[in-house]
Amino acid sequence: MIRRAAVALANSAAFAGAVGLLERLDGRRSGTLAVLTYHRVDEPGARPHLSPAQLSATPATFAAQMRALAARWHVVSAQDVLDAVHGSGPLPPRAVLITFDDAYTDFAEHAWPLLRQLGLPVTLFVPTAYPDHPARVFWWDRLYAALSDPAREALDTPGGRIALGTPTERRRAFKRLREHVKALDHDAAMAWVEDVCGEAGAPAQPTVLGWDALRDLAAQGVTLGAHTQTHPLINRVSLARARAEALGSLDDLRRAVGDVPPIFAYPSGGVSAEVAAELGRAGFALAFTTERGINDLHRADPLRLRRINVGAGTPLAALRAQMLPATASLAGALRR
Ligand SMILES: [Zn+2]
Repeated sequence: MIRRAAVALANSAAFAGAVGLLERLDGRRSGTLAVLTYHRVDEPGARPHLSPAQLSATPATFAAQMRALAARWHVVSAQDVLDAVHGSGPLPPRAVLITFDDAYTDFAEHAWPLLRQLGLPVTLFVPTAYPDHPARVFWWDRLYAALSDPAREALDTPGGRIALGTPTERRRAFKRLREHVKALDHDAAMAWVEDVCGEAGAPAQPTVLGWDALRDLAAQGVTLGAHTQTHPLINRVSLARARAEALGSLDDLRRAVGDVPPIFAYPSGGVSAEVAAELGRAGFALAFTTERGINDLHRADPLRLRRINVGAGTPLAALRAQMLPATASLAGALRR
């Protein structure tokens, strides 16, 4: 009830007006960086075999968000952020970096054509074991496909039998099992997914962009960044393996695409002080978490930068409010 009232408030003209005023007042401040995280931009139901939890926006919503950013914010590139962190050029006021994680194919279909048309820089974080391996499917999409199979009325898991008779039961089961997987060590989690999903979840088409498409996007101006090879939660593997996954994905990108900056996004936000320090020793200059918030670059740890995850239910004014220091924490309460 409170959430519904809050969303109604966020959608109201008065709230949008107040955010617009704050954006103007914030125009003199520099050194603050907002980073947006998107996963998929697609029509709901266009790829019914993929988990809708990864949908960040419809193409129409995304277009409205990008037009608002183009009009009121300074959309900066990863190189601009690297320059600012290295002290060779401050960021403009109201700086925002747009990032996409996982390199789903809909990025090239819906997001990039619009970003390119508006001249907005973007960074795409690629888990490099996936391109050109269409049989490899992210574990959450496999789990979703296994739970969506209408022939299944129940799922036997190592933890017991779970009913899948109704859409509500399926939704609940997906949420519960997804949290269960995230709480396990990576190898145990993947073994568990293998056990539960079996053959389910092999898609008809690749879900991740192939190397030819990634090379094309890079040539057109998309910045590519490392996101490990196999997308483990790297705070749930050994430090040596975390380093190998991170450096391996950067090497894969450099081999397949060419010049790629030493930037990284932690898969599913898995991060620890040890992992961040190890990435620094490995030569990474920027690393992005899923911790919500904005960054004061004078004080922030460049290897633990905060981001704002964009969910499909986020009203535009609430998103803009989250990007402002004055209203970030208040607007965070409206997040999905
Ligand atoms: Zn990811």
